[in-house]
Amino acid sequence: MASIFTKIVNGEIPCYKILEDDYYLAFLDINPLAKGHTLVVPKKEVDYLFDLEDDLFAGLHIFAKKVAKAIDKVIDCKRIGVAVLGLEVPHAHIHLIPINGLYDIDFSKPKLKLNEKEFNEIADMIRAEL
Ligand code: AMP
Repeated sequence: MASIFTKIVNGEIPCYKILEDDYYLAFLDINPLAKGHTLVVPKKEVDYLFDLEDDLFAGLHIFAKKVAKAIDKVIDCKRIGVAVLGLEVPHAHIHLIPINGLYDIDFSKPKLKLNEKEFNEIADMIRAEL
């Protein structure tokens, strides 16, 4: 069965899209730790990040760098933190999370509840910096 991220890549499930090319897609995490929390995924469905072929793995990080810099311009934070978990969705992905301290990248803390308008506004602002 296709992963939920493959369904997003194929347009079967909606997302708040940030950036896309032939190989990668970036979209807002639906249960964000912070405003601007973004996922960057390869379109090719591979479960474990470290099983990606070298070119795809390297390209994912270069793609993520571009997205991270755009997030950094619009979200007030010290850094864009990077995390890899993959405990919930078996489709390789990188979390980009605006952080000001350790607590901001603690995945066990309650997630933000944003409405559609807020998600769209954040996505629009980030896209405008790309
Ligand atoms: P993990 O696999 O542990 O790295 O976590 C998967 C992440 O994907 C979680 O932060 C979820 O909130 C996020 N997520 C799951 N489904 C969706 C979706 N349909 N759109 C955006 N983010 C999602």
